[in-house]
Amino acid sequence: MTILKSCVHRPVAKIDDGPRDQRKAVVLHTAVSRATSLFDFWQGGSAGKGIGSHIYIAEDGHAEQYLDTSRETGHAFAANAFTVGIETWDNADPDHTPWTQAQLDKIIAICQELGVPGKALLEGPSDGVGFHRQFPSWNENKHSCPGDLRVNQVKTVIIPALQGGDVTQDEFDEMHAKSHRVRVDRLAEVADSALALSDWAEGTEPADPGRKAIVDKLKGARREGGSPG
Ligand SMILES: [Zn+2]
Repeated sequence: MTILKSCVHRPVAKIDDGPRDQRKAVVLHTAVSRATSLFDFWQGGSAGKGIGSHIYIAEDGHAEQYLDTSRETGHAFAANAFTVGIETWDNADPDHTPWTQAQLDKIIAICQELGVPGKALLEGPSDGVGFHRQFPSWNENKHSCPGDLRVNQVKTVIIPALQGGDVTQDEFDEMHAKSHRVRVDRLAEVADSALALSDWAEGTEPADPGRKAIVDKLKGARREGGSPG
């Protein structure tokens, strides 16, 4: 039973096609609609049997949930079995209307609530974010859904946002290399001091200028401290 806090729950029993493979996976759609809700559309049944969406997000980010996300409904053919379908307002003009900031915020909030990771879905059962036309097996009607503008937003806004505070592999490698260099530098200092002390104990002047500087410093410290012996 998964009813999302980020949505208003308005259940529509007739779009329930049975249990869903519980992947943390969403497929995004564009509805070619100015509607503020799809409740009447799904409830009226004119969409036909086996067609539905779990969620609809209006222009202002208001979201309605029509079906428990643990259930399956028909929105993307081969992806139905493992994904949550999210329909979205597009002013009935998807070619010129990207998702609004409020819609993007809501998509990200829903994905976070479902635990969807910031990566692209694979064609088969997997976790992540997908879009309707991503694979032909999901898009037997050859729709352009969700349109070029939104496909770009999936890649440049939604997936990066879901990666959140995680560092990229490159950033991690850089941090690791930096801390490693610091450790190596400190080790070299300690080794120099030890060699300088050993030279000094044997009464020889170190040839290495760095070590000689350490010995001179120690001699100075002894004179100033006036230590016995
Ligand atoms: Zn679609």
